[in-house]
Amino acid sequence: MKCPHCLVEFHDEKEITILEGDIQGQWAIETYICPNPNCKKSIYYLINAKLSQSRNTYRWNIILDSKGEEQVFKRELVRPKGSSRPPVPKEVPTDIAEDYTEACLVLPDSPKASAALSRRALQHLLRQAAGIKKGNLANEIQDVLDSNQLPSYLYESIDAIRNIGNFAAHPLKSTSSEQIVDVEAGEAEWNLEVLEMLFDFYYVQPQKTKQRRDALNKKLGDIGKPTMK
Ligand SMILES: [Zn+2]
Repeated sequence: MKCPHCLVEFHDEKEITILEGDIQGQWAIETYICPNPNCKKSIYYLINAKLSQSRNTYRWNIILDSKGEEQVFKRELVRPKGSSRPPVPKEVPTDIAEDYTEACLVLPDSPKASAALSRRALQHLLRQAAGIKKGNLANEIQDVLDSNQLPSYLYESIDAIRNIGNFAAHPLKSTSSEQIVDVEAGEAEWNLEVLEMLFDFYYVQPQKTKQRRDALNKKLGDIGKPTMK
């Protein structure tokens, strides 16, 4: 699994701590400790599952069904709170980074709130980084698609925001991006995926290119050659 604190992959070994059962069945806490020496943090999931106790070790285990799948009916990450999405790159402006981070955090509890925040982040990004004129979000998406500045994978991904979000049927989503409106299945997650791709394209890659160009120019300058613009 990937540690939701440090995002480093590790070979998981869990410990189950049993809680009270209720009308919905047995509850327990599933614990992992991240072995990454720079992290070492604990990860807790609240689970509702079928459990059995080993007679030798007294350890609790999740019972497997006939297909070998764990019989877990609910598994909710309680620590760390929020999402296991990568952190926002430092190159992203603060207002956009804050909306994105909050959109990730509230996603499990409120996809509607998450989608409202991610739509706002998208709108700010399109205006600031892509230079799109203020309009409604649907038009702004159309403008960036028409601007020919996007590689095809991004073109299709942004276009899909309107399609998955069914903007045609929900005019509020585009006329006021800060409104809380219903979300379609998968819409809130998709907005976050696309924002991550846009962060890379508009903020991270240009910065990397600039650093490489600066390094090259330093070398060219050192040997008395004209520099690259
Ligand atoms: Zn970790």
